[in-house]
Amino acid sequence: MGWQRRCDLLERAADLISERSVVDGAALSWENGKNRLEAIGEVEETADLIRYCTHAMREHHGFERPMERFHDLEVTSDVLRPYGVWAVIGPFNYPNALIGGPTGAALVAGNAVIAKPSEVGSLSAHLVGRALTDAGVPRGVFNLLTGGADTGSALVHHAGVDGVTFTGSSAVGMSILQSFSTAFPKPAICEMGGKNPVIVTGSADLDLAVEGTARSAFGFAGQKCSAASRVFVDESVAAEFTERLVARAEAIPPVGPLEPGGFLSPVVDQRALDRYAHAVADARHDGEVLTGGHRIVDGDLARGNFVAPTVVRVPDDSAIWTNELFLPLIAVRTVDSFREAIALANASPDGLTAGLFSDDDGEIETFFDRIEAGVVYVNRSAGATTGAWPGVQPFGGWKGSGTAGKAGGGPYYVQQYLREQSRTHVQRS
Ligand code: NAD
Repeated sequence: MGWQRRCDLLERAADLISERSVVDGAALSWENGKNRLEAIGEVEETADLIRYCTHAMREHHGFERPMERFHDLEVTSDVLRPYGVWAVIGPFNYPNALIGGPTGAALVAGNAVIAKPSEVGSLSAHLVGRALTDAGVPRGVFNLLTGGADTGSALVHHAGVDGVTFTGSSAVGMSILQSFSTAFPKPAICEMGGKNPVIVTGSADLDLAVEGTARSAFGFAGQKCSAASRVFVDESVAAEFTERLVARAEAIPPVGPLEPGGFLSPVVDQRALDRYAHAVADARHDGEVLTGGHRIVDGDLARGNFVAPTVVRVPDDSAIWTNELFLPLIAVRTVDSFREAIALANASPDGLTAGLFSDDDGEIETFFDRIEAGVVYVNRSAGATTGAWPGVQPFGGWKGSGTAGKAGGGPYYVQQYLREQSRTHVQRS
């Protein structure tokens, strides 16, 4: 199938996904506990991720171009071509967008796809598949395989798989990266975890800083790869910022994700509850829990894995500064200088997102120059480190957070699903 036809089909699928976003968003909330607004938003994001890839394909005329020639009879063209069969393995927290987005890219590039969603996201992945099928993607081109780690591992290690996009934890991503290629190199795009910092300087507008940090740390119970989990705040504003962040956390209403305006989400499973209990116990033992640290059991919330938005202060050697917890828990530390804040922010092996609150142009420029992260924001109250959108904020990690160096929803993404072929044909005179 030519690239124009593929773009037409995928654009039709994106439109169907948009049309169905209210219902498919409900399925997503039901599966993983995301609130209504963000769930509908995620489904729309899937559609836009797909559209962004077809847009790139059209903008580059299917990545086919004539090249220079040595003489009139030697004609060379250059074309980007698909690899073959692409595996897409997705995480529980974005089961629609992180199956649908990479699948869209792989399909528009001309690959066939075998998608393996998280066990928590099988229904959402099925709904993405249904939109593709309804749009006319031929049978066998998109395939859905449900199951857990064993299924994912079997897929990745099957010799018939030519490329893989994995989104999930760093431990699994690194093991896939290290074992995927055997007989010869094969492309593996692994987007992994984050330990995302927020820097609040002495010149910051604290209204923005408190709101942006709270949204980023506590939205979807901290279960976003982009969630803020570390704050470095200048000593001149540390007391006021921390007091206001604690008050903001405590003001989050105990309303579940399916209710209008609900902002709280449950954590995903018992393992996450155990991780929370351990982190809180460590913080109490080594430092201080400034707010939170307990389960929420008001009314119906008692039936879910709801935990209180939590702010802690812990010593520098605490594992809370280094381990991705994936919980609504954020650690706050006072710094003496902006330079110290940048150094501490960059000390993590991860480099996914980062946020700065400052009114100083010099600090803002230095932040953009020095911060080691793929998605960075300044003065964003909607989410200090969260909330990227295809075509607006390309999303991808640096260092331990991602292999590609090219971001989803960005201008260089779809090319990763293609390989270059230079074609020289010497014509007979
Ligand atoms: P996970 O690593 O536990 O699982 C991700 C997927 O991999 C699931 O489908 C799972 O079944 C599968 N899997 C598990 N073990 C496997 C193996 N050995 N071989 C092949 N597949 C295997 O992650 P999760 O808990 O579902 O998701 C949360 C993680 O995802 C967090 O670390 C988060 O930061 C990360 N994440 C990253 C991004 C990003 O864009 N960088 C986006 C969303 C989530």
